[in-house]
Order: sequence, then C-alpha cells, then structure tokens
Amino acid sequence: MKIIMLGAPGAGKGTQAKKIAEKYSVPHISTGDIFRANIKNGTELGTKAKAYMDQGLLVPDELTCDLVVDRIQQKDCENGYILDGFPRTIPQAEALDRALKAMGEKIDYAINVDVPDSSIVNRMSGRRACTSCGATYHIVYNAPRAEGVCDACGEKLILREDDKPETVQKRLSVYHEQTQPLIDYYEAAGVLKTVDGTADMEDVFAAIVHILGE
Ligand code: ADP
Ligand code: AMP
Repeated sequence: MKIIMLGAPGAGKGTQAKKIAEKYSVPHISTGDIFRANIKNGTELGTKAKAYMDQGLLVPDELTCDLVVDRIQQKDCENGYILDGFPRTIPQAEALDRALKAMGEKIDYAINVDVPDSSIVNRMSGRRACTSCGATYHIVYNAPRAEGVCDACGEKLILREDDKPETVQKRLSVYHEQTQPLIDYYEAAGVLKTVDGTADMEDVFAAIVHILGE
C-alpha cells in the first residue's frame, strides 16, 4: 500500500500518517521530519534546508527528490509506505513517478486532507512538537498530559519556528502556488481521495480507513 498525504501545512497529514502507519504496518516517511533530524544533527543537508524552512519556503527539489527516491527503495518499504510532505511540487511528483515506473510500481492512494486556510493558523499556532521523538500535539485539540512535556518520551515540547503566524502565512501562499496543483495531478492519475480534515482526528481517521479498507 503506497500512499501520499496531500494537504496544506497544518491540515493534519502527520497526525493521520502516524495512525495509518501503525494500523497498516508501513513506514511513515516525512520529509519535514528528515530535514529536522538533519538540522538537529548538524549535517550539511540540514544547514542548507534550514535556510529555506525558516523562511517558510520549500527546500529545492534537487535536495529533496533523491533523498525520497533512495528512502523508498529500502527494505522496509517493500510492502508500501506513507509519504507525508512529499511530493510538494509538480517536478517532485514527476520525479517520484519516474522512480516508481523504473521499479515497476505505482502510488495506490493520494489522500487529500482538506482544511480551509481560516483554520490553519489556529492549528499551527497551537501545534507543539517534541524536540526529541517528533511526536506532535495541539494545546487544545490534542493536549499532552503535562504542559510542555512529551507524553511519549518525556522531552520538551516547542512551538516550531516555522509555525509562528508570520511564517505560516508565507507557507500557505507557497502551498497554494506550488503544492495545490498536485490535487489535479493525482485526480488525473485516478488515485485522489479527499477527506474533510476539519472533523475530529478520530473521524478523519475513520474516513481514511473507509477508503483504505479494514
Ligand atoms: P501537518 O502534518 O499537515 O502539517 P499536523 O498533523 O502536524 O499537520 O497537525 C497540525 C496541528 O493540528 C497539530 O497540532 C495537530 O495536533 C492538530 N490537528 C491535527 N488534526 C486535527 C483535527 N482533525 N482537529 C484538530 N486539530 C488537529
Ligand atoms: P513539514 O514538516 O511537512 O511541515 O515541512 C516543514 C518544512 O520542510 C516545509 O515548510 C519545507 O520548508 C520543508 N519541506 C518538507 N518537505 C518538503 C518537500 N517535499 N519539498 C520541499 N520542502 C520540503
């Protein structure tokens, strides 16, 4: 089962991708998480990516595509995977298609988590991310047991630099310009499924399970 999560930043892609990964036993591949891990580890890729991420811009395709193409060829991807945050541009989708074609494979579902812009700033300003294990929370909709502390690993939770309202506006305009065209791209490929991302997390997940099957 090869799945792509589509949707605006803050729509709930990561939240749902983690649940899908657990239920269907496939790896969750988040390019945002990969870049943040590289920043944390001080790699050259991390340094390059950070300059774009901090401004709410996309990391260039040449730093992103090969990374994902390599990742999906690893052994744990044999039975499928969930791509979260990739592709984000038409050239990225085309690079993925080329790689899949060479492997004799294809994407089964592109799940579009639909949330209006008016809800996004609220979602992202309330998002808290664990500095250690990458778990995410929301101060109202999915609060951790103790304020500022990760339920999963006990480390500190932070408001991501790029979740501050000034950067969120930029990320939303980048989304509409560069990523939203992927909705038509995957519609044309016959794999697009849209779910209402404004519903409660469990209801969004139930809608996704209905699409993917029990
Ligand atoms: P994305 O991966 O699309 O950027 P996240 O999954 O990190 O988005 O979700 C963004 C924020 O919104 C997080 O704080 C998350 O806890 C919260 N969230 C996710 N889904 C829902 C939902 N259905 N209702 C309310 N809040 C949600
Ligand atoms: P995310 O965690 O998915 O919200 O991604 C955080 C940031 O990482 C984005 O705002 C981009 O700067 C960068 N990023 C993540 N995935 C990609 C991608 N596929 N292409 C370009 N930039 C990306």
